[in-house]
Formats: sequence, C-alpha cells, structure tokens
Amino acid sequence: RTIGEALDETVRRFGERDALVSRHQGIRWNWKTFAAEVDKVAAGLCAMGLRKGDRVGIWSPNNAEWILTQFATARLGVILVNINPAYRLSELDYALNKAGCRGLVIADRFKASDYVDMIRTLAPEIADCPKGKLRSGAIPNLEWVAVIGAKVTGGFLAFADIAGAGSQTDLAALPAIAATLSPDDPINIQFTSGTTGSPKGATLTHHNILNNGYFVGARQDLSEADRLCIPVPLYHCFGMVMGVLGCLTHGACMVLPGDSFDPVAVLQAVAAEKCTALYGVPTMFIAILDHPDFDTFDLSILRTGVMAGSPCPVEVMKKVISRMHMAEVTICYGMTETSPVSFQSTTDDPLDKRVGTVGQVHPYVEIMIIDEAGCPVPRGVQGELCTRGYSVMRGYWDDEAQTREAIDAAGWMHTGDLATMDREGYVNITGRLKDMIIRGGENIYPREIEEYLYRHEDIQDVQVFGVPDAKYGEEICAWVVLREGARMDEAILKAFCKGQIAHYKVPRYVRFVDTFPMTVTGKIQKFVMRSTMADELK
Ligand code: ATP
Ligand code: MG
Repeated sequence: RTIGEALDETVRRFGERDALVSRHQGIRWNWKTFAAEVDKVAAGLCAMGLRKGDRVGIWSPNNAEWILTQFATARLGVILVNINPAYRLSELDYALNKAGCRGLVIADRFKASDYVDMIRTLAPEIADCPKGKLRSGAIPNLEWVAVIGAKVTGGFLAFADIAGAGSQTDLAALPAIAATLSPDDPINIQFTSGTTGSPKGATLTHHNILNNGYFVGARQDLSEADRLCIPVPLYHCFGMVMGVLGCLTHGACMVLPGDSFDPVAVLQAVAAEKCTALYGVPTMFIAILDHPDFDTFDLSILRTGVMAGSPCPVEVMKKVISRMHMAEVTICYGMTETSPVSFQSTTDDPLDKRVGTVGQVHPYVEIMIIDEAGCPVPRGVQGELCTRGYSVMRGYWDDEAQTREAIDAAGWMHTGDLATMDREGYVNITGRLKDMIIRGGENIYPREIEEYLYRHEDIQDVQVFGVPDAKYGEEICAWVVLREGARMDEAILKAFCKGQIAHYKVPRYVRFVDTFPMTVTGKIQKFVMRSTMADELK
C-alpha cells in the first residue's frame, strides 16, 4: 500500500477518533478532519505544479504542519526531504541542492534561529521576487519557500497559501493521482543523524517506511485506544516513521508535547492527554526521571513506548519500568537506512532480555553478524551487524559510491554497528565500529566501560571514547556528567575502576562536563568530543 491508501483506511476505520493533538499550537483533529486538511494541502501543491518524483523539503521543529506536509506530499508521490531543524546555512544549502528541492516548507523560527532571515541570506532574491516565484542562483531548483506561523513578506508564501492555491478541481483530481502511485516509489529522503560525521541522505519508499511503522507499533500492541506522546523530532525516522506512521497504521493518536524536547512539557502532556505510550532516546528519559518535579505528575496511565537511538543503559530501563509505569516499554534498534527498526523487544521477552538487549529481529528482516573477513561469526561472538529485507533503503540519494559501500551485491546493509546474538536470538549492540578503541592492539568497547561507570551513584551520564596517543595508538578518555550536588575527581573515578575492570580499560583522561555535544535527536557526538580532546592534548 501507499501512505495515502493507509490514511484512507485509517479514516474509514477510525474517522471520528483523535488523530493529532499539538499542544503548543492548541490543535486537536480527528482522523477525518486531519485527512481533510491533508487533502487541502495536497491539492494546493498539485496546483502549484508539483508532481510525482519532485522533491519538497521541510525544515521545521515539530508541529501539525510538519505532519500535514508529510501526508500531502505522500498523496502526490512527491518526495519529502527531511531537514534537520538544527541545520545552519551551509548544511541547509547542501541538503536543498543535493536533493534538488522545488519547494521548501519552513518554520518562522526555532529557538534562537530566525529561519526566515537565514533563507534571506541564502537566497537574497526572495526579498523582491513575486510571491512563490523564486529564481535563486544559490539553489537553482527552488521555486518557493512557505513559512509556517508568521506574516510573510516578499516572495515568501505563508503555509496557508499552499492550501489556498488548490481549487475544487485539484481536490477532485487527487484519487486519479493516487492511482498512479506505487508502494515502491521513493517517497522520502531522510538524513542520518550525523553522529559519526556528515549526515547522509537515505532514499526510502512508501513500502519501506509504512511497513516499518506498522511493525514497530505492533510490537507495542498499539491500537486506536492508545495515545502516543512524541517528543522526538519529526524530521528523524523516530518521529515520522515510528511515531507518525506507527500511529497511522494502528489508529492511535499522535500527541506533540511541544516543538522540541522539554522534560516538563512531556510530563504535562502525558498527564493531561492521558498518554498510554511515550517515545524517547535514553538522554530524554534520563532528563525526565531526574526532573525535580517528576513526582508531582500522574503517569499511571503510561503503558508502553520505545527507548531507542543509542545504547539504552539497563539502570535507565529499570527506572522507566518502575517509576514511569511503562511496564511494557520496548527497546528498538535501527538506523535511518533501514526505515529504521530491525530489532525490538516485546513484553513476551523475559525482563533481563528486555532491559539488557535490543530484543529479537523484526518480521521480514534477515540478519547476519560477520567478522572482519566477512564470514558469519558463531553465536555469542561479536561482529558487524548486517541486515537485509523490505526495510533496506533504495540507497543514498544521488550517491552511488556510498550506497555501494553500505549495501553489498547480495543486498546486505552493513550497519557499522557491533553486535552479538545469543542462542535465543536476542541481540546486544556492543558499540559502533567507528567508536571502537584500539589501544596497543587491544580492541576496547566503550560501552562496556560506560556501563561499569554508570553504576557509580554520583555519575549521571558518561561517555567513553578513544583519543590519539603516540605510544598506544589510542588512549581512553571519559567525559562525565555528575549528579547535582555530587563531588568527584579524577582520582576517585580511577580508584572506582581499579581492580574492577582491566587496567587497560581504565580511562587515562577524565573530564567533568555539564553536557555532551549532541545532535537534535539527543544523540551524543563522540567525534566532536574526540576532536576537542585531540586539540587539547596536542
Ligand atoms: P550517522 O550515520 O550520520 O553517523 P547515526 O548512525 O546516529 O548517524 P541514525 O540512523 O539516526 O544516524 O542512527 C542509527 C544508529 O543509532 C545505529 O547505527 C546505532 O549505532 C545507533 N542505535 C540505534 N538504536 C540503538 C540501540 N537501541 N542501541 C544502541 N545503538 C543504537
Ligand atoms: Mg549511521
């Protein structure tokens, strides 16, 4: 099925039930109203000349318009290009040009950034071109920029102008357009998080992401009775696939607590909207659990959800289950290139597997764990995880070479992640190949040291990575965030390790910091820490 067909079915089955609550915008739509709004935008885009295969970018934090744009483009077979709200000019320029976007939907601003101003810098012609008729030297394909939520000037369109452009005839033409679409058409270019370097644009089809959203929801037993709180960014697959398409395919309601993550907004949304499910990366759950007002919110209706995106510490999982009532919370493992999820735990799994592994493989996904020579390793032995199946992307957009590096001739996606599998098929993600530290010829996995250090009661969060070293090739460095009021120094930390973990795993360098460099998804960018330390140690 196409995404449009899935929407039609959800409207047929659950039309009167809540589809979307956007708390910061005061929006509340049922599926019928939501689909009607989608169709208006789709008709408008069609009137503006957008056709199957064209690209439209979206550069905005979370809001209802984001989701409308997602479905309106899908109705036409237009490929949506998700642009990270944290991008700045050069990255935006790169993404728009790389994908050849004809249109761009933007928020007026996000936090300290004035998006409208940035567009004016990038394409100054927009100040005095006719509305919606941009001809920009900097971004040759770009014809219009539509702004969500502000009065606009010059050649900018308002988001509402898009819906306004469509006539009854355009609206009536949508079913005929739907008939020309195939589930195997590319529908989305998603950039990876940029955790290990520059983001890469993964090209995904309706079939890829719609099915993945369905299976992710199924493992949480999502149904029309559920209300899912989505504080994770929509621009990322966690929000738009696992969140939006997960809700769509099970008739659950999407609840946006705010334009970006804020622990109090999440707590308020869950309590006020009676959310039964909540998504987040581990750092979000840590921030929620550690919030001083945590105990004043009634979270008893929470049931399930997903923790994913980076290693999920066992201690955090246990607290999410006991203190947040999320007895059925699942861990997912995935990557943008595989739509994204390949592994997910379920409530049928024993507790130790649920908190300590990423669960078992998803339906219709094959996996293989290989050694450096490319041969499958025995159970229990660590190697690189490879996945194959319906969920593997078409490729990186306009990048044959990188695609060939990632997906081999037999269709296996080489994830770049290290994993082990036990006899029952439960998988542990043990690190990233790129993060593995090689110290004096010894392979060291940062995750192992991090898990050990988490046990110290004064440590709130810790990241371990390798830094260049003349003698050993690499040395181990730990950046530590302490709990409020806690005091600790390097000597105490080293003493805590001594005799407990092998001497070569004890961090040589320790830094106490307030925060880590992060992507907007909340993923910690070790490559940034690594280069900061490398400069410092020069
Ligand atoms: P980039 O590819 O640009 O460096 P990225 O890999 O972080 O960034 P994503 O596609 O958003 O971009 O994230 C996928 C990666 O996140 C996986 O390859 C894996 O390293 C990590 N990851 C996801 N889920 C888990 C999990 N449950 N446990 C451990 N790691 C995870
Ligand atoms: Mg990656």
